[in-house]
Order: sequence, then C-alpha cells, then structure tokens
Amino acid sequence: MTARLRLQPEALGLGMTSQRVRDRLIERLRAGGIVDERVLNAIRTVPRHLFVDEALATRAYEDTALPIGHGQTISQPWVVAKMTEALFSGGQQAGGAQPKKVLEVGTGSGYQGAILAALGLEVYTVERIGELLRTARKRLRALGLNVRSKHDDGRIGWPEYAPFDAIVVTAAAPALVEALSAQLAPGGTLVAPVGSGSGQSLLRLRKDADGVVTQDNLGPVVFVPLLSGMLD
Ligand code: SAH
Repeated sequence: MTARLRLQPEALGLGMTSQRVRDRLIERLRAGGIVDERVLNAIRTVPRHLFVDEALATRAYEDTALPIGHGQTISQPWVVAKMTEALFSGGQQAGGAQPKKVLEVGTGSGYQGAILAALGLEVYTVERIGELLRTARKRLRALGLNVRSKHDDGRIGWPEYAPFDAIVVTAAAPALVEALSAQLAPGGTLVAPVGSGSGQSLLRLRKDADGVVTQDNLGPVVFVPLLSGMLD
C-alpha cells in the first residue's frame, strides 16, 4: 500500500505567504504609524512574494528590505507605505487634488510601481539596470498591472510625459535632483531620500498652485544610491 503524504500548505512553505501572514504585516505597518487605509489595502492585496526570488518568498511579508540582485533591494514595506502615503496626504494638505499621474525613479523589483498602479494611479517608472527592468515588466504584466516603463537614467525624469502629479524617487542622491522637481505639476508632491550612506532623510517637496515649493523632512531612511548612466 502506498502511503499518501498530504502536505499542508505550511509544510510547503506556502503558509508564509498566506493572507494571515499578510494581515500581520498590515498590523505592523499600522503600529508603525501608517494610517491611510487605501495604502494599507494596496499592500494587503499586491503579492510581494512575487517580486522577490523564489528562495526569498517566505520572507516577503516581513517588514524588511530584501536583495533583488545587482546589489539592489526591494524596499522595506514600511518605507513603501510611508512614501505612498506621503504622495496622497501631500496633495490634500497643500489643498491640491489627489494625484493621478506618478513618476517613479528606480523600478527595481517593480513592487512600488505595482502598489501605485493598484491604487489606480497612472504609473511611469524608469530603471537604469536593464535586467531588473525586464524582470519587473514580466511581473507587472503577469499581474495585469498597467505600468509604463523605460530603461534610462531616471535623473532626467521622463520629460515626454511631464508634468507629474507625484514623483517618487527610490534611490538616494546627495541632494534633490533639480530636473525631477521641475517635472512636478502645480499642486504636486515629490518624495525622495536625500543624503549619503547612513545619513539619509526622506524629503517631501510640495509645489503649490502658484508653483511655490515647500519642503519637509519625514525622517531617517536607508536607500541604495541613485547612480548615473545605464547598465544592460
Ligand atoms: N522601487 C523599487 C526599489 C528598488 S531599489 C522596488 O520597489 O523594488 C532602487 C532602484 O533604483 C535600483 O533598482 C537601482 O538600479 C535604481 N536606480 C539607481 N539609480 C538610478 C537612476 N539614476 N535611474 C533609474 N534607476 C536608478
């Protein structure tokens, strides 16, 4: 007689990506001060485990950055939540409308772009490493998320589609990139890590209806550097 081994999802490791595990991450983000229900819902819905290597899938719902190859990382969920929330509340506080069109600099795994697309935004994303971009495109397509992307040095933004209601930069530069703030629409919000090494801060820049720019600091963060040029 053949023994029938019935593996439970947990035994297969699938439990590590279950709804219960995702809900635990959401509770953690709430405890970390994330309040926007739309953002929390997007994070609950988008399968982060599909944006990392299979070998790391069981860690996908930990609140931590994970390697995605080429020395790059998928951002920590709390950071993704914080930046996304800042784009929405930025517009409200400045008296502007909700953002519709958003530019992301640093596609990486595609996860941040997926969250923005899941929130109904029209997403444009730029990545300098061709191989990361190709993998990200496949994932986004497989999930049916409509994100426009290009292989380029994102420090020049995407002038053909500018201006943007929101811009999110997911790699750190020593100072705010002038070309990017220039592509921000009146009433728009830009969030970007600024600084080097362990001395980075998440800055939010808001442009009012008259084009006057104000800036605030959302706290310390750690990002990979914003680099020049392109790689295949
Ligand atoms: N938003 C990504 C985070 C990826 S890490 C995610 O959700 O996974 C930052 C990414 O920025 C890396 O993939 C890196 O290659 C990219 N990057 C760094 N400098 C860049 C530049 N000048 N233009 C475009 N992308 C850049």
